[in-house]
Amino acid sequence: MAMGARRKFVAGNWKMHGMAGSLSELQPIAAAADASKSVDVALCLPSTLIARAADAAPTLPIGAQDCHQAEHGAHTGCVSAAMLAEVGARLTIVGHSERRQDQQESNADIKAKAEAAHAAGLSVILCCGETEAQRDAGQAIARVTAQIAESMPDDASADWLTIAYEPIWAIGTGRVPQTSDVAEMHGAIRMKLRDLIGEEADAMRILYGGSMNGGNAAELLAVSDVDGGLVGGASLSADKFVPIIEAAAGAS
Ligand code: PEP
Repeated sequence: MAMGARRKFVAGNWKMHGMAGSLSELQPIAAAADASKSVDVALCLPSTLIARAADAAPTLPIGAQDCHQAEHGAHTGCVSAAMLAEVGARLTIVGHSERRQDQQESNADIKAKAEAAHAAGLSVILCCGETEAQRDAGQAIARVTAQIAESMPDDASADWLTIAYEPIWAIGTGRVPQTSDVAEMHGAIRMKLRDLIGEEADAMRILYGGSMNGGNAAELLAVSDVDGGLVGGASLSADKFVPIIEAAAGAS
């Protein structure tokens, strides 16, 4: 695939936000997604909303934020990828930093989750990112590329897996890295992907995530090797999310 031919991809992550009433946001988001022909859009919702959201907005891919690596079993409180697919999920996030931290998920766990999601027919957004201390110590690129090497399935391909680079210190803080740092990291991720999966790396999308909003999206999405965004807080309302979809269309 030629460089520059990757379609922009904007995915929302509602985290543990959203009740049934929040589904009124879906219609305008789906309308903006339908209108912007050059951008792929998805929303990753709490599990409780997936079925209703998939019914309410059939053209908008609805995803989960995690899945268990097993097909079924004695795992109280967990949900398998097949269960998510059955209720209408088309994708899932795996390896978000909040789960790496809150649930102590390892790279091996995340790899197994990505494999399970793919086996169940879901696309995968695989997250990676460094802490502020790691960046300050000059370890950001080594840390992030090691996360990818250890958590990306060996048979990963661009038609089902997307990388999301999310510096942990930028998530939910209103802080964003310098665009030169984003370019350096996304370039390093692309090189690591080439080591791991060869030419397929040039087709794989690498999203930026961390305090992206309508005011900074155009600049971030114009950075080399930034193929879209994973958006938390600004995906919760159509008012804030639609401008990011429009910025991605403008950057396409
Ligand atoms: C996220 O958690 O994936 C994220 C990018 O959050 P926010 O946009 O709120 O920083």
